Amino acid sequence: MVSAVQVGKSFGALQVLKGIDFDVELGEVVCLIGPSGSGKSTLLRCINHLEKIDSGALYVDGDLVGYQRKGDRLYELKEREISVRRSNIGMVFQRFNLFAHMTALQNVIEAPILVQKRPRKEVVEEAVALLDRVGLGSRLDAYPAQLSGGQQQRVAIARALAMKPKLMLFDEPTSALDPELVGEVLDVMRSLAADGMTMIVVTHEMRFAEEVADKVVFMDGGMVVEEGPPRLIFGAPSHERTRAFLSRII
Ligand code: ADP
Ligand code: MG
Repeated sequence: MVSAVQVGKSFGALQVLKGIDFDVELGEVVCLIGPSGSGKSTLLRCINHLEKIDSGALYVDGDLVGYQRKGDRLYELKEREISVRRSNIGMVFQRFNLFAHMTALQNVIEAPILVQKRPRKEVVEEAVALLDRVGLGSRLDAYPAQLSGGQQQRVAIARALAMKPKLMLFDEPTSALDPELVGEVLDVMRSLAADGMTMIVVTHEMRFAEEVADKVVFMDGGMVVEEGPPRLIFGAPSHERTRAFLSRII
């Protein structure tokens, strides 16, 4: 589903990704961990076409990100073609980013109707089912300001799912939440994982990673330092930098 081959990315003189190799299989849940500034968000943003890479190659669902192959030539994608590709990827951020002037239901139906041009009736039915699934079936008409942070984040997840994405990216989805609201969001993510959704999750919730991830990837300084099954990374990390990070966070 995702393959990064020696991906490099700089902002001016600052090299943020220094040759990332990274793979996510269909149906896999990969947790991305690492200290602040290590390049985790930038990697997700590259995967989601929000940043362009400078070197290496990045594939999502078999397509080279940002390019289209015609015969043996590569063409840079136009903005409109990029949004089509991007609509296959759901992204949930630390801040809920809901439209404040729209109800929960309106937030969820907006993009499928406007971007995917799908029939309103069908989209509304699916959106109601999705909001029900994230435990908000009784709050369809609530505005974001009337919802708790955990509820808003669950609307954000439903909104991403309404696009029927093949891949879900989560960038610290619970970091901005009050501690007592973290669990309800993780529960929704757990059930998504159990349904076979391919997910990349940047998180500091190590217990969640241990329980749900097929693979944990530890990044530091723009590089993948080590990766492996959670039991190995948490139980017997082979790099000193991983050990130091884990001892600070757990
Ligand atoms: P993480 O998510 O692991 O905390 P980020 O990917 O957000 O790391 O950031 C990695 C580095 O890139 C940081 O030093 C950050 O300041 C820098 N950075 C991120 N985005 C930009 C940008 N748009 N312009 C300049 N520097 C950036
Ligand atoms: Mg980040």
